[in-house]
Amino acid sequence: MAARDKTSKAAADAKAAASPPMLSTPAPPPAEPSPTGVTPSMAQFLEIKASHRDCLLFYRMGDFYELFFEDAIAAAEALGIVLTKRGKHLGADIPMCGVPIHRAEEYLHRLIKQGFRVAVCEQLEDPAEARRRGSKAVVRRDVVRVVTPGTLTEDNLLDAKTRNYLTAIFCPPLGAGPERPIALASLEISTGECEIGEVAAADFAGDIMRLSPSEVIASDQTLAASELRRGLDSVAAAVTPVPGASFDSLAGERLLKERLGVADLAAFGNFTRAELAATGALLKYVELTQLGQKVPLRAPRRTGPDDRLLIDAATRSSIELLRSLSGSKQGSLLGAIDRTLTGPGARELAGRLAGPLRDPAAIAARLDAVAFLNERDALREDLRQALRSAPDIARALARLALQRGGPRDLAAMRDGLGTADGCADLMRAAAGAVGLPVNLAAIVSSLSACSVGLAEQLSSALADDLPQHRRDGGFVRQGFRAELDAARGLRDNNRQMLAELEAKYVAETGIKSLRVRHNNILGFYLEAPAGSAKPLLSEPLAQRFKHRQTMAGAVRFTTQELIETQSLIVAAAERALALEQEIFAELATAIEREHEPLIRLAVALAELDCEAGLAEVAAEQGYTRPRLDDSTTFDICGGRHPVVEQALKAANAGEFIVNDCVLVPATAATADGFAGPSEARLWLVTGPNMAGKSTFLRQNALITVMAQMGSFVPARSANIGIVDRLFSRVGAADDLARGRSTFMVEMVETAAILNQASERSLVILDEIGRGTATFDGLSIAWAVVEFLHAVNKCRGLFATHYHELTVLAGRLGGIASVTMDVKEWRDEIIFLHKVRPGAADRSYGIQVATLAGLPKQVTERAAQVLALLENSEAKVANGEALLSDLPLFAAARSKASEHEGAAALGRVLADVNPDELTPKSALDMLYKLKALVEKGPP
Ligand code: ADP
Ligand code: MG
Repeated sequence: MAARDKTSKAAADAKAAASPPMLSTPAPPPAEPSPTGVTPSMAQFLEIKASHRDCLLFYRMGDFYELFFEDAIAAAEALGIVLTKRGKHLGADIPMCGVPIHRAEEYLHRLIKQGFRVAVCEQLEDPAEARRRGSKAVVRRDVVRVVTPGTLTEDNLLDAKTRNYLTAIFCPPLGAGPERPIALASLEISTGECEIGEVAAADFAGDIMRLSPSEVIASDQTLAASELRRGLDSVAAAVTPVPGASFDSLAGERLLKERLGVADLAAFGNFTRAELAATGALLKYVELTQLGQKVPLRAPRRTGPDDRLLIDAATRSSIELLRSLSGSKQGSLLGAIDRTLTGPGARELAGRLAGPLRDPAAIAARLDAVAFLNERDALREDLRQALRSAPDIARALARLALQRGGPRDLAAMRDGLGTADGCADLMRAAAGAVGLPVNLAAIVSSLSACSVGLAEQLSSALADDLPQHRRDGGFVRQGFRAELDAARGLRDNNRQMLAELEAKYVAETGIKSLRVRHNNILGFYLEAPAGSAKPLLSEPLAQRFKHRQTMAGAVRFTTQELIETQSLIVAAAERALALEQEIFAELATAIEREHEPLIRLAVALAELDCEAGLAEVAAEQGYTRPRLDDSTTFDICGGRHPVVEQALKAANAGEFIVNDCVLVPATAATADGFAGPSEARLWLVTGPNMAGKSTFLRQNALITVMAQMGSFVPARSANIGIVDRLFSRVGAADDLARGRSTFMVEMVETAAILNQASERSLVILDEIGRGTATFDGLSIAWAVVEFLHAVNKCRGLFATHYHELTVLAGRLGGIASVTMDVKEWRDEIIFLHKVRPGAADRSYGIQVATLAGLPKQVTERAAQVLALLENSEAKVANGEALLSDLPLFAAARSKASEHEGAAALGRVLADVNPDELTPKSALDMLYKLKALVEKGPP
């Protein structure tokens, strides 16, 4: 180890002369098999592998992790690395591949991504120690950690901006149906963040998507529940089955108390038995994969359905909350409003966006903080400047606690403390006479919770340039500890001595090519080319130059002086390294003592980054503060779509046209600028394709989410009575991946809305009923609107291309009809994107098709056909009058049979050639046609 100083010539030589990196460790399996045919090191390997059958085994051999047998075959294939063989087992070659430890994280990353679990088996002693026990002793090894998607801690394996939850799911065996509770316990091992709660089975899919764990553990029984499977399909989590017995609520309670160091859990919430069972399995799995290392655990947050705006899985995708439909962050709401500067800040923002709140007071507290920072450009700019360099304290802290930390993790504490100090000072200075909003005041107090000594200690101890790993030393600042400086001096001085020794021997022997070299087996030695070594092998020089090895082209010697110098160097370097490790441990202990305040500080910095980012985007995009209360108001004035607006701006594609949306019983204060329907809570939105219906619908859903997460919103003003559930559906959305027909999906999702939406909910339905025949679709859409109006009584927007539906607006009090304004100009259509009261008179499908570039012959022919169809429809009885008759479905049906009657007429007429008819047969034909019209088709 000591010989690895890169600056030393001797060591550089040593490197060049060194044999392959494996040399320092005994190769398994050694040549002499035991009587059973299995060598001791093979026996060791097989034993370790046997207890980690579900994992690839990364087996530490010197500077490599090696894989054997099936593991080697699988890993070589997955990583595209060379598969070789090493030795024999029971007469057959052993397949083998390996990855160098300095690139291990990269390979781990790729394997985990491909769904493997990896058990990391380390050498637990220096190979030299094993040799001391005897030439055949095997280096002690054992698995120190099992790496799975949900248990990652390294920055290289994690996405800095995404939370990495491991979630245990427990479905109590009793009961069934949509109301049955399902318990979820989630932990992010890389930060200690923990969240425990219950959801109704019907809300499971939405909640698991909110958590978006990278790994889920559950028992086979739980996994067998179909609604769970379906929910899990919508997230990209690795699913790890664990024994049902791990879900033990008593064990969970005990483990949780133990880990939190409390005698009673009441302070964290009243956990149900099911929640404790899930927690038990979670903590047990963590212990199992971390091999007993204590993962830091923060006070768990207990979350229930009443704290949050519930958003189901289909809605999350449909409104493109965190990911666009194509799966990227770009194009999503998160992509549009994320102005955070740090990984922890981005994770906080994504968490808030995925789980908006429901308590107006809590939302107002967040909005106060955003408003404060929004109004103070200079303060916001200064804070953001400070945050730019803030490290990821929480993740560094967790690595240190798990004994996986490096010098840069210590530095993260030092720098984080510096950032925190800076930010706290800025905010105190800005508080002035008004003081800070509650949330910001809490942040300031958390930022100052650490003792001053720690930052100073870290600053004086750590060098300016830090290596990634602690194992090689070199991270303690010169001058921090005299003893270390002395050992380093001795070490480096002795290197000088080696060079002098070499010069002296060259002079004495006259052999110019005599060199001091180093390898791991001999240590330091002298090497002379075979041709010039002769004088050293004979007296008198042979007295001093002891022969060690004869190689093909060289002979190796040592001397008493060299041996002494070597042990001085080794001792000094070992001493220096040991001192550095000691100092590392001291610093880590000092940090561990401040674990609580440091976690508070990390959370505070993340929150501050999040609030400042929201204030920033509000300033940049001209968002306003929404007003939220307990009413069922929904009054958006001058609303915009946050994503489309920015896209138009980026593409220089013109202004976004603002639109109002007022879903309330009228009051004097509402509907500013919108002289439209003001008594309605359900709006039917008609208009041609491309007119902006979908954009309008979604912008109101997004504004709601933004308001309830505590963000300013893209509107002139927004007044929203807290929404309990948000639903958004797009008709005829393809879901072939899940193997259900589009129409079936549409109906399943519509059913969920009709079953769940309450008076407090907001329902956005975009062209529901499109996936089936026209009259089916119209009837379903019709009935759905009636049901939403009469039973759910929710606020809602319903875009439809069935103009017939707008009849409902006149007949039902709570329903209004609006349309997207268009202008016709010489056969062309201009979209004004403006919502106005009224209904679209027609679809403008042919104009849109013209815009889309359909060949002129097609659009002209279509115009002829349309004229024909419209004429023939006008001749049959007035459709609207029929539709106004009760019962509603009779109306729809009679219209359908008319259509069939007309079709039957057409069929008969098609077969008639008037030129060939005699007067008599013409008259007969007339009777026949009249009868058809009167009786309808057979
Ligand atoms: P529809 O659902 O009626 O077919 P969309 O909502 O998909 O129409 O809108 C079509 C396109 O029109 C959008 O992609 C957008 O570029 C543009 N658009 C929609 N609404 C607006 C608006 N309010 N201001 C400006 N452009 C808009
Ligand atoms: Mg649309």
